[in-house]
Amino acid sequence: MVDNYGGHARMVPMQKGQQTRDTSTPIQFLKGVGEVRARQLDKLGIRTVLDLMEYFPRNYITRMLQPAIRGLRPGDGIALTAMINWVDEYPSREGKKILNVGISDGHATLVCTWFHYPKTYPSLLKPGTNIWVTGTLSEYNGQLQLMHPEFEQVDDTDEEDFWKSREALPVYGLTGNLTQKFFRKAIHAAFEEFASQIQENLPTRILEKHGFLPRRTALQKMHFSLKPTELARVRERFAYEEFFYSQLLWARHKHHHVSKVQGMKFENKRELTSDLYRKLPYRLTGAQKRVINEIFSEMCSQKQMSRLLQGDVGSGKTIVTLFAMLLAVENGFQAALMAPTEILADQHFTNISRLLEGTELKVVLLKGGSHKGKTQTKKEIADGTAQIVIGTHALLQSDIVFHSLGFVAVDEQHRFGVQQRAELANKDKHPDLLYLSATPIPRSLSQTVYGDLEVSVLDEVPPNRVPVLTSVRSTQKIDSVFREVGKQLAAGSQVYVVCPLIEESDKLDLLDAERMHKHLSENVFPQYSCVLLHGKMSSAEKDEIMLRFKDGEIKILVSTTVIEVGLDIPNASVMVVEHAERFGLAQLHQLRGRVGRGGQQAWCYLIAHHPLSKVARERLDTMARTNDGFLIAEKDLQLRGPGEFFGTEQSGMPQFKHASLISDQPILQKARADAFEVIAEDPDLKAENNAAIRKFHASQQLEKEKLILY
Ligand code: ADP
Ligand code: MG
Repeated sequence: MVDNYGGHARMVPMQKGQQTRDTSTPIQFLKGVGEVRARQLDKLGIRTVLDLMEYFPRNYITRMLQPAIRGLRPGDGIALTAMINWVDEYPSREGKKILNVGISDGHATLVCTWFHYPKTYPSLLKPGTNIWVTGTLSEYNGQLQLMHPEFEQVDDTDEEDFWKSREALPVYGLTGNLTQKFFRKAIHAAFEEFASQIQENLPTRILEKHGFLPRRTALQKMHFSLKPTELARVRERFAYEEFFYSQLLWARHKHHHVSKVQGMKFENKRELTSDLYRKLPYRLTGAQKRVINEIFSEMCSQKQMSRLLQGDVGSGKTIVTLFAMLLAVENGFQAALMAPTEILADQHFTNISRLLEGTELKVVLLKGGSHKGKTQTKKEIADGTAQIVIGTHALLQSDIVFHSLGFVAVDEQHRFGVQQRAELANKDKHPDLLYLSATPIPRSLSQTVYGDLEVSVLDEVPPNRVPVLTSVRSTQKIDSVFREVGKQLAAGSQVYVVCPLIEESDKLDLLDAERMHKHLSENVFPQYSCVLLHGKMSSAEKDEIMLRFKDGEIKILVSTTVIEVGLDIPNASVMVVEHAERFGLAQLHQLRGRVGRGGQQAWCYLIAHHPLSKVARERLDTMARTNDGFLIAEKDLQLRGPGEFFGTEQSGMPQFKHASLISDQPILQKARADAFEVIAEDPDLKAENNAAIRKFHASQQLEKEKLILY
């Protein structure tokens, strides 16, 4: 077999009596690896030969000089090949030595500097030889500088074998004392022996449709290409694969467990829903109308609805939910709304009861533990008298029996686990389900994490909303912030002051909020009632304080981040966030969403303690620049990466080796569409032209099963 880019993949004929070796052979048995190095490779997730073959270079060296130095700026991350012009070693004031090496691309020079380096460096780095360097540029006395760059001499004539004098060399992420040389050799050995055994995992029709290379060729190119600049297209294939197979799990789950389930089929009778529409004190936004239509048309179909309703804080999810509830009720079914806390359940109960005033509808509230009238409420739920049931997760308890549950909405759905989602779906006669989420998630993420749910998005806030004015102030200016806050207090507003939660030390955190509370109540605002709220309090205590704040009795609420997300306190129009640089972007946005709910101007002061990291500065700048939750979520995802975006409690977040949820979104869309199409046509992957998919899917399933409901 001759490859058109280097001809390295000679096949080694198998010796008689030799055990069958394939790409799943443990890595320690690859030529030149052995047990000790295998243990180090394990840290990179490399366990088999195939894992190594799929361990892609994180960079490429080219032996040719790259005339690129002119035009570079401090702060740029660079990787380039240049010639060593001069080497200069001199003693520092502390008596240590400093090594400066000037490198040039023939047009401009930059200086590489080492303060700590092995003794061998000065003699190793010879003027006239080529060197590949990578690092982040800085500036010193007007001269571009690379501090402690990673480097490699590219005209190392010792290098026997395959890699010698190749124009391009791969650079791998290293671990332990493994070297680039080791990786290159091992990878070359792996391909020499196993290239012919690399299995295709996508059907030809899909390869052709997207113009992807066969898997073997694509893998070889990733390591051995002589034109690394052309690899972006090749890499897409691997991103596609990962997305395709993760979407295939969702497609199958949906086909076998969601779509098959017969749900309620409602009819849009335009009775209760039309009444509500006429009586609304405001006009629905275009987004609300669109989403109500999406929900109605699914509820009026036979299949069970499982839909995620995403909308920023204040986008008006409650009223949309109420329309859906009324559709179920006018069809003779009960509808339930489940909230994550009692205080939110109370709020929904009050609001919904008010919106339904003057109707005959029976709305009940059910909470955990024992509460007044609970026995009666349970009875009304069981005999169907209660048409609209609002409650906490107490609704899920087995002693709560519905007469005819047709619809369930789950507010702040992320507070409930994946398991509870499954329990709900199977409750009673498979009610239609609507999950409400105030955390805007970029589409790529919702499709990955909630791949079985349809998604509706409220991407418009009601027109009467005034954007919160946000400013970032340094901690030295906190007195001026309090002066401005004082004016708002005098005008009758209420104020939230939020202090950070420091994970390592709850005690410290408590002190922070405590100290702030003491300072405010004794020195700054002694004339106003100022109360401290923190996570160590019982929920009864917390609820009591929140209610006093809601009633306006408390003017200043100093708290850690425990204040409730969905709580509507229109009169609270000022928020001060202390140590704002320590909060995540999504969290800041959620916090800020608690003010500006009253239609009058609201303010948010983000107090920053310097020095700020680059990322912290970007977070704060983003907050000051926009109120748009979706923009903020995209930015957050960029800054943190998908894993941390969700935090650890979020299950169902697959780890991708090659694909990026940020930059590969278009590939995800293609992969998702293809995966769903494949399953629609061939749900059990029995067709001959899906054999490759069947095989790979089966080999992945065990691993992924744990992650999602399958
Ligand atoms: P969230 O999406 O955060 O749950 P809510 O449903 O609590 O938002 O709505 C926030 C506020 O906006 C409520 O006071 C609600 O009455 C009001 N609201 C909802 N839709 C509209 C609208 N179309 N026009 C004006 N106000 C609205
Ligand atoms: Mg809400």
